[in-house]
Amino acid sequence: MRNITLIFTGLAMLLLTTCKKEKMTQNPFFGEYTTPFSVPPFDKIDTTHYMPAFTEGMKQQNAEIEALININEDPSFANTILSFDRSGNLLTKVSKVFFNLNEANTNDQMQAIARQVNPLLSKHRDDIYLNEKLFARIKAVYDKRHEAGLDSQQIRATEKYYRDFERMGANLPEDKKEILRKINTQLSMLSLTFGENLLAETNKNFKLIIEDSSDLNGLPAGVIDGAAETAREEGLEGKWVFTLAKPSMIPFLQYDNNRDLREKIYRAYYMRGNNGNANDNNAIVEKMVKLRAQKAQLLGYKSFADYIIDDNMAKIPGNVYDFLIKLWNPSLPMAKKEVAEMHKIIDRKGENFKLQSWDWWYYAEKVRKEKYDLDDSALRPYFSLGNVRDGMFMVAQKLYGITFTIRNDLPVYEKDVETYEVKEADGKPVGILYLDYYPRAGKKTGAWCTDFRSAITEEGKRIDPVVSLVCNFTKPTADMPALLNWDEVTTLFHEFGHALHGLFTRGKYYRTAGSVPNDYVELPSQIMENWAGDPEVLKVYAKHYKTGEAMPEELIQKIQKSSLFNQGFETVEYLAASLLDMDYHTRLDTIDFNVGAFETKSMKNVGLIDEIIPRYRSTYFAHIFNGGYAAGYYVYIWAAVLDADAFRAFKESGDIYDPDLAARFRKYCLAESGDDEGMVQYKKFRGKEPSVDALLMRRGLK
Ligand SMILES: [Zn+2]
Repeated sequence: MRNITLIFTGLAMLLLTTCKKEKMTQNPFFGEYTTPFSVPPFDKIDTTHYMPAFTEGMKQQNAEIEALININEDPSFANTILSFDRSGNLLTKVSKVFFNLNEANTNDQMQAIARQVNPLLSKHRDDIYLNEKLFARIKAVYDKRHEAGLDSQQIRATEKYYRDFERMGANLPEDKKEILRKINTQLSMLSLTFGENLLAETNKNFKLIIEDSSDLNGLPAGVIDGAAETAREEGLEGKWVFTLAKPSMIPFLQYDNNRDLREKIYRAYYMRGNNGNANDNNAIVEKMVKLRAQKAQLLGYKSFADYIIDDNMAKIPGNVYDFLIKLWNPSLPMAKKEVAEMHKIIDRKGENFKLQSWDWWYYAEKVRKEKYDLDDSALRPYFSLGNVRDGMFMVAQKLYGITFTIRNDLPVYEKDVETYEVKEADGKPVGILYLDYYPRAGKKTGAWCTDFRSAITEEGKRIDPVVSLVCNFTKPTADMPALLNWDEVTTLFHEFGHALHGLFTRGKYYRTAGSVPNDYVELPSQIMENWAGDPEVLKVYAKHYKTGEAMPEELIQKIQKSSLFNQGFETVEYLAASLLDMDYHTRLDTIDFNVGAFETKSMKNVGLIDEIIPRYRSTYFAHIFNGGYAAGYYVYIWAAVLDADAFRAFKESGDIYDPDLAARFRKYCLAESGDDEGMVQYKKFRGKEPSVDALLMRRGLK
């Protein structure tokens, strides 16, 4: 059973029965892909292909499992665990394409299919994990795993599957299994609706249309051009349009002198899903939180957080709270200091108002200019998308020897998407990388890394992965390439780190290859952000897009000096969201509650200041209500301990490309990351457990 995202989970036997034969021959999912590297033939995939492939995929996997449980042999690793691991080929194939595109390039038809297939996949998964005969066979292998002459990876795969079944309710009595099934189906549909509502609230329901050019005062020329271009695309020639996509909204908040308009756009942003309209997410959040608590208790856990974190490095929610509060305590005073600094500017100008959340970016930008003589628009020309991309490729080459060659012959799902062939230093294949950079109406906000095919070794032969990186970056304009801000630069390096993890993964079993605990996942990604900002690296890739001139030493020093800029805010808004997530998922009761009131109380408890809004408020907290991060938004800062400590090893060695360290990091923390527990793998690389010091120092908290 491959590790695919079934949480977004939808049937239609009917579709299949009518013209089965014909569809089977034309449907690209039903045959081997005949494209180079067997990448998905996006140019030949039509929305009508999905449902028949899902239906047939589930049918095939059911038949495989039937054969597996009815085999007339005693349960063994090969006839049970391995057969199960390899089941569901077609279902995986179609799921990977469908769910990835439903995130990155959706439309009404795709959304309708998602609604249809979600409950079916949820049921399909429950049918597997609640199948008594199957569980009995897996348990039989598990019980004798130490006496059966299995190697360490076979034992690990067996243990992982056994635990999956346990956690999915295989040990429950029949009546409770029925309740669990209902909960799972409801949760999958609620999560899907949450995402659809959020997409509408972000991309459809609000636009800031500016007609009077004086309302653009303060904005850099590039930002104005971008807004004019967006207006043109919307048929509003001669006006300017700003949206709630971050590359559009953030520069507006940073630079526009019109305070009322800043408030208008930011308010629209933080009220998403909370407007009492058809896309309101309040009731969905409430239902999901209650159902999750009920599910956890059914499975014998105190709370949903206990259920989730039991599988993580942190083990129990108490450890997460302790860790978050330990960081919260020094961060909050730092944020308050930042407010005071910004107020000095407001007071000096003789303005008479209290700083509000929608003022933060504007005045923070002024502080950056005054204190560090640095402003975002001075940096952007050095961060053209192409240069940044080449910079991250260069870092990967220096560390791991791998090369990236652009391919123009691979099918893509959108014309802007780039594809690269990744090879080892000696020319051996590593995999394929897709890069999808810009916002569009059918794409969710944020940035993520996913794959269209996972790496696996089958009968001694490695099947190379197809990895994809999806972002929402500042777009190019008619006369300027895409010029990124610092946040976008580090985001690209971050997602690239996930991509390297996917590309390097080695292993024989889908269940274990590259499979790491949630609070380890962000180590491979976040460590790459360290290289993005290292002076030695900046010197190479940060080149002026017009002149090709390297970033002046003086500017590099300013970036270094300003590394603590706004860290109070950044840390507090993140921790606030993490604590909110934990508060929701440590709820023990399943009685009705008001989402807004709960959020307010949760934030009051930790003393969040009015000037800061949690990085995600409940009604647009997609990580926890539409993604895999419930009771797990904390993982970014948990893994930051690891990445800061790991990068320190490179710094201490005196060579940020130290070949021995790079080889060890690749082997233990990336390629073999799923071979053992996260901390065990980390210690193989570092020789000791990580210390929190490096993180505290990096954030100016120590
Ligand atoms: Zn990440």
